[in-house]
Amino acid sequence: MDWPNGAGFAAAITFDMDADSLIHAAGPDGWKNAYAVSMGQYGPHVAIPRILETYRRLGMKQSFFIPGWCVQTYPKAVEAILEGGHEIGCHGWIHENPANRSADQQAEDLDKAIEALAAFSGYRPRGYRAPVYQITNDLPGLLLDRGFTYDSSMMADDDPYALDVSGRKLIEIPPHWGIDDWPPFAHYEEIGYMMPVRGPSEGLAPFFEEFVAAKKDGGLWHAVWHPFLTGRRARWQVVEEWLETALTEGAWFATLGEIADHSAKLDAEGGLRVLPFPAYEGPQT
Ligand SMILES: [Zn+2]
Repeated sequence: MDWPNGAGFAAAITFDMDADSLIHAAGPDGWKNAYAVSMGQYGPHVAIPRILETYRRLGMKQSFFIPGWCVQTYPKAVEAILEGGHEIGCHGWIHENPANRSADQQAEDLDKAIEALAAFSGYRPRGYRAPVYQITNDLPGLLLDRGFTYDSSMMADDDPYALDVSGRKLIEIPPHWGIDDWPPFAHYEEIGYMMPVRGPSEGLAPFFEEFVAAKKDGGLWHAVWHPFLTGRRARWQVVEEWLETALTEGAWFATLGEIADHSAKLDAEGGLRVLPFPAYEGPQT
């Protein structure tokens, strides 16, 4: 892909600040699980200030996806993110799985999440990432109705592409499980997630290999991290050290909003892959 100002490739770190929304979304008794709540609280209280300080020191502006409930519960963290000039995208209301909600409920969840952020800061998100990537066939249309320009939940490319949603375009900035820190670092039995936790350097190595591959291909490197996982002390020190070099490799480090705007420009010139959405109108046999 072509990138602005002659950059050879593009790079973005995104943090999904789920905090303890996950344990509440898992069931009505989540609030009683003090350990799980505390594991999530680490994100807004400890990891976010740490991450923001690194970004400030290195002059980086990046993207954060935050459920509306977390905006209400952790306003200080949200304020600090906005003060740092970073982007906030929508990440559902309380990390509910959209696939378990009706189209009307999905619209309600979205409106509630947008309203929480707008009421708090006047800031309206332009980007969306579905909780656990569970985007539905309803959501792209609902996002376009609400002025969103991009989604980051679908995985049909390494690099940004466009969805043609009944004649309207939504930019897709694809994540995938290989650039997500749950597989190497999450151990969360309460929500059915049990994986062997990797050491900091071992768990982060695949992300750095992806960066080298994106550079070679002139593509996009994109990480999907969580403050309570990659923002923990030893892991973040590995990231910080890596960033010192990574920032000198000729990448355009940008927010997903900036990458979406650039992708929309390429699309207007016919330079972006376009996929019709939804992929199917009914059951396939
Ligand atoms: Zn999440």
